[in-house]
Amino acid sequence: MSGASRLAGKVAIVTASTEGIGYAIARRLGQDGARVMISSRKQHNVDAAVQQLKKENLAVEGMVCHVAKKEDRQKLLEETTTKFGGIDILVSNAAASTHFGSSLSISEEAYDKMFDINVKSTFMLCKETVPEMEKRGSGSLLLVASIAGFVPFNMIGVYSMTKTALLGMVKVLAPELAPMNIRINGLAPGLIETKFSSGITASEAALEMTLSQIPVGRLGKPEDCAGIASFMVSDDAKFITGENVVVAGGQTSRL
Ligand code: NAP
Repeated sequence: MSGASRLAGKVAIVTASTEGIGYAIARRLGQDGARVMISSRKQHNVDAAVQQLKKENLAVEGMVCHVAKKEDRQKLLEETTTKFGGIDILVSNAAASTHFGSSLSISEEAYDKMFDINVKSTFMLCKETVPEMEKRGSGSLLLVASIAGFVPFNMIGVYSMTKTALLGMVKVLAPELAPMNIRINGLAPGLIETKFSSGITASEAALEMTLSQIPVGRLGKPEDCAGIASFMVSDDAKFITGENVVVAGGQTSRL
């Protein structure tokens, strides 16, 4: 199945979806037939994203949700079920990278913030969404991790640790969710051109070094993550759970 029919009738939440990878995934899920709830921390970003996607005739709504705030997560689930009648798909995409440097030089505050947003909030949102999926009789969760979760990157070691935790979360939850007919998988992007990664490739030298590790010879684009995300959450992938898929232009072959 492909195109607008793949996700017809499905309702999806994508967190951190007003720009970058989350936006591209939300857009693609909409193009493939899902009704999509967009969210991020800032109302003006939500408004701009929703306006743009509605212009493309996609069935989207939007609201503010800072994933580390329990009340925001609750409202996100309530609003989605009220507007769309249930939840079939969750793409958990939000993350923070609060420290650049050796891992042992991180402050406790920066460490807590990264684990809070990247790991705890992801787990809690999954836990909170599962009962809604059980009501539907099925569901699909996709956690946006990182290639750095497999092979830690220099200078962002603690961020890498949080992403490794997500790879593990997928493995832990897959067998627990399978009896409920709910799947969970991870998406592990390599270097994708977004605001988030702009610091890593800011200098010519860093960019050159990075490109030398990517066999396809370019950085990824957010859209490179979108089609695989749509496939992973769709019924086309109904026999796939507990897997972490790398989208990195072949970079794992050079690490
Ligand atoms: P991005 O382009 O900088 O976009 C970040 C999005 O997240 C924005 O919509 C932002 O909107 C929202 N956001 C930030 N913090 C949030 C929070 N606490 N709660 C809710 N929304 C929040 O980032 P990206 O590169 O697409 O990254 C998306 C995901 O991909 C992250 O999990 C990242 O770790 C992962 N990843 C990225 C790369 C890469 O090279 N770019 C590689 C591997 C993995 P507001 O400012 O309005 O909140």
